[in-house]
Amino acid sequence: MTHINDYKEIVGRGTIEDLFLLADRLQGKAVQNINSTAVGGGVAEILTRMLPLLQDLGVDARWDVIKGNERFYSTTKKIHNALHGVQVDILSDEFEDFLETNRQNASGMTFGDIVFIHDPQPIALVEQRGTVGGRWVWRCHIDFSRPDDHVWRFLKSFVDRYDSAVFSAPAFARALAIPQILIAPSIDPLSDKNRTLPEETIDAVFTRFGIDRSRPVVTQISRFDYLKDPVGVIKAYRLAKRRVDCQLVLAGGGATDDPEGPAIMQQVNSEAERDQDIHVLFLPPSSDIEINALQRGSAVILQKSLREGFGLTVAEALWKGRPTIAGAVGGIPLQIKHKYSGILTHSIEGTAHWIKQLLQEPAFAARLGKNGHQHVRDNFLITRHIKDYLLLFLSLYHADDIVHL
Ligand code: UDP
Repeated sequence: MTHINDYKEIVGRGTIEDLFLLADRLQGKAVQNINSTAVGGGVAEILTRMLPLLQDLGVDARWDVIKGNERFYSTTKKIHNALHGVQVDILSDEFEDFLETNRQNASGMTFGDIVFIHDPQPIALVEQRGTVGGRWVWRCHIDFSRPDDHVWRFLKSFVDRYDSAVFSAPAFARALAIPQILIAPSIDPLSDKNRTLPEETIDAVFTRFGIDRSRPVVTQISRFDYLKDPVGVIKAYRLAKRRVDCQLVLAGGGATDDPEGPAIMQQVNSEAERDQDIHVLFLPPSSDIEINALQRGSAVILQKSLREGFGLTVAEALWKGRPTIAGAVGGIPLQIKHKYSGILTHSIEGTAHWIKQLLQEPAFAARLGKNGHQHVRDNFLITRHIKDYLLLFLSLYHADDIVHL
């Protein structure tokens, strides 16, 4: 288990002392995080690492996961896709069922002084606010640049009942009656997913998966989700392979609140058939060392998302100094400045072009990786994220002091 003081080596003593000072001001306040999955996806990833660190700082931090049936998760996935601008039909009884599941979850819950709701799935818990009191914050992790109007209006009726809303990137700001705060996500440099690994461990993971490390490997780590465009990744790899030898790794698992994974995985498998250089790896939960090793041992990392709230996988790859090619969507441009800290692309052809370029120009690729690492160090480590959250929590008790411009 890592302790907050362990981070002094990476971010300096002063940063950690600041965190203790801020945490001290929150004494006596219970901060309750609520989301819809304990494993899989970026939100669970962050909460898993952040909760123990907040507790280590002396914050009374808690984490609850709401539960629902298959229909609830199918509706919430539709809501998720609709907010990402995908055309979906949600029936009025599905909205009703969504509300009912939120109410059932609320009936068994004890609410903290600060209720920190992550994403749309538990958003309607705010209906309880009148009864249980407290300060309420809605934290949206998803790409909100082009939400479906109907679904957004439904959610907005809840969002306006919160004290404030947190988004990951400026492009996601919306017209709201409440203050909006921008806080980018982060990665934990000391987690099994991101810490330095011995070369033998990296080798062992590649050997176990039957991947030849003597030839360049191009990798995308992602849930099997249409919006991560795994089929587009295969197409880009095929185009690049006409010009340069390489192998492709598509590795990922599912999340308990994402019912679409198996169908997408099937599609990917049939697309990848008959090419021995494509490795489609299904990763169970807790594959952190495997993901770390795959990222570190790859020549190029892809994150060819069509929509992306932030894309922790991008920050993870950059932290490891890996040259990264990613879709210019959502929060990804916060992390990658084109041709400086990575490559931004808009198409399959563009992705293929840059796979070829980076494999053929290792010195340029290495420079991108180096700059990417520094950018993550400066902006996207968990200590900065904790500081932003502590300041946000404290601001809830000083709302009158906030100057609205
Ligand atoms: N991840 C994982 N196992 C998988 C696929 C992804 O642990 O099979 C992790 C990945 O390393 C990253 C997070 O889940 O830390 C995904 O976050 P991201 O923001 O990239 O995408 P999301 O899944 O939240 O859309």
